[in-house]
Amino acid sequence: MKIQDIQAIQLLLSTPKKIAIIPHRGPDGDAMGSTLGLYHFLLKNNHHPVVVSPNEFPDFLAWMPGSETVKIYEKDKENCTKILEEAELIFTLDFNALHRTGEMEHVLAKLKAPFIMIDHHQKPDDYAAFTYSDTSFGSTCEMIYNFILFLGKKEDIDKTIGTCIYTGILTDSGSFRFPKTTGTTHRIIAELIDLGVENTEIPTLLFDNSSFGRLQLLGRALQNMKVLTEHKTAYTTLTQDELNSFDYVKGDTEGIVNYGLSIKGIVFTAIFIENKEEKIIKISFRSQGDFDVNQFARDHFNGGGHRNAAGGKSEVSMEETIRKFEDLVPTLKI
Ligand code: 5GP
Ligand code: MN
Repeated sequence: MKIQDIQAIQLLLSTPKKIAIIPHRGPDGDAMGSTLGLYHFLLKNNHHPVVVSPNEFPDFLAWMPGSETVKIYEKDKENCTKILEEAELIFTLDFNALHRTGEMEHVLAKLKAPFIMIDHHQKPDDYAAFTYSDTSFGSTCEMIYNFILFLGKKEDIDKTIGTCIYTGILTDSGSFRFPKTTGTTHRIIAELIDLGVENTEIPTLLFDNSSFGRLQLLGRALQNMKVLTEHKTAYTTLTQDELNSFDYVKGDTEGIVNYGLSIKGIVFTAIFIENKEEKIIKISFRSQGDFDVNQFARDHFNGGGHRNAAGGKSEVSMEETIRKFEDLVPTLKI
């Protein structure tokens, strides 16, 4: 961040303020970790922060400190709109364009208070008064750690803030193995562990808390998988009926997309998940190496993300969506 921006933000934060903190719709570990980490930091500095999530966060993140205070816009639009309109400062974390908040976009677009964007996605929009955007980071949580350092408040980072930051770094780095994981990432993690962050308990809470239905759903997704060996591609599907038959709850499909990459020689993988309520097929893409799934998602499936992890959606049927995908794959340089 520019020194002038840091000084301007320090000035803004020098008196107690009502602050809204916004993650993207469908918040993941990094979105929840960064918003809640910042929430606890601002609370400690005598502000009045509220995390307003566009929609519900998954159950497997419900243990996170402060998650019980999170307001859900799509469940309580009136109250959340009031909070947003009264906010004197708005942080948007882990996303790069207001449309990533779904319907909440229309409320956010009208607000007069200054925005601060902290994010690691490509091509940030320019709605914010202050933009800390850097795609070299593996997680927004690592940027929140830096942001607190920029403000000269490192000593404020305690076990609670650290737990939130640890969670987002862990989940967005695929447990510290994705390419943007650096020595600095590990040094931050080491500091957080020294602060008492429970580095064996957190992965257990995140990853070893599945229902039996979730495991069976994974089994179905693996059985549905199609491997296009000559195009180094694997994809799978889950229909709404399949989700229902395994008592799907939000978060159950998290991480399933990655299994395609565990097949030898496969470097591009996708999962197509039907959502009848929203009348869309939600898609996740993952790649290993140079194939840019962010560009692919932007070009063909109304989405975006990062080079090796992106998402998008399709508004036609599962069959048509798969046909489009299968037609596209042979045209790609994978
Ligand atoms: P996931 O597949 O885990 O939902 O998302 C992977 C990455 O792609 C995340 O960084 C997420 O923010 C981004 N992403 C997922 N879905 C969309 C989408 O519909 N639009 C855009 N622009 N980014 C997405
Ligand atoms: Mn992220």
